[in-house]
Amino acid sequence: MALEYDYPLFRPPAEANSIIPQVTLGCSYNNCSFCSMYKTKEYSVKSLEEVKSDIETLSSLYPNATKVFLADGDALALSNEHLIKILQLLKENFPKLRRVSLYASTQNIQAKTLQELELLKANKLNLIYYGIESGSQTVLKKITKGWSGLLDLDLASKVSCSKPYKWNSLKTWNKKKGYIKNKKKKYKIIAIDYGIKKNILRCFSDLHCKVKIVPAETSSQKILNKKPDGIS
Ligand code: SF4
Repeated sequence: MALEYDYPLFRPPAEANSIIPQVTLGCSYNNCSFCSMYKTKEYSVKSLEEVKSDIETLSSLYPNATKVFLADGDALALSNEHLIKILQLLKENFPKLRRVSLYASTQNIQAKTLQELELLKANKLNLIYYGIESGSQTVLKKITKGWSGLLDLDLASKVSCSKPYKWNSLKTWNKKKGYIKNKKKKYKIIAIDYGIKKNILRCFSDLHCKVKIVPAETSSQKILNKKPDGIS
């Protein structure tokens, strides 16, 4: 029993030991001037029935697999509804599944809402490989990347929390104790959420800080009115 791949098939080096079902063929953009990876293929989406059959075949061969990479070029181009169905099939067929990853373009990511991305993450899609190639608009234009760069984009509003919340006081992970709570509240910190990483908040807990996270658009006056010892 073997899987019939549509070649060429590419994967990141870190996915050498991963299970690889093809859920799309080629790249939905396929127009970057420097890239010849999928020039021999026309982009298409594999049906859920085909993907289900491939996943079941792979599961019968590697039932204990923990990592899955969804090929081909930019599987994040799929609709969220379609992707969630694939992720559910993976969870059903690989009980030890820890991580699902895929290639994506900046356009794919921008086309999803934050809530859609969070939903994918909650369903174990927790690694996206993508290359912006350059921050220079001139370079991006020359390589026909199909994306005009970061200039004038308001990305903070896309990733920021919608209302203030208090950090749960968990400290950074400890080999013996795992995540434990900080009980000393020596300093009051206001952290502005421009897509803040949880580990930064844990580091504040290590330093005995009480942290409140506020949305990116919170006014400076509102923050200063809370009389924090520090602003992050
Ligand atoms: S988006 Fe990626 S895979 Fe598609 S053409 Fe550009 S570099 Fe190649």
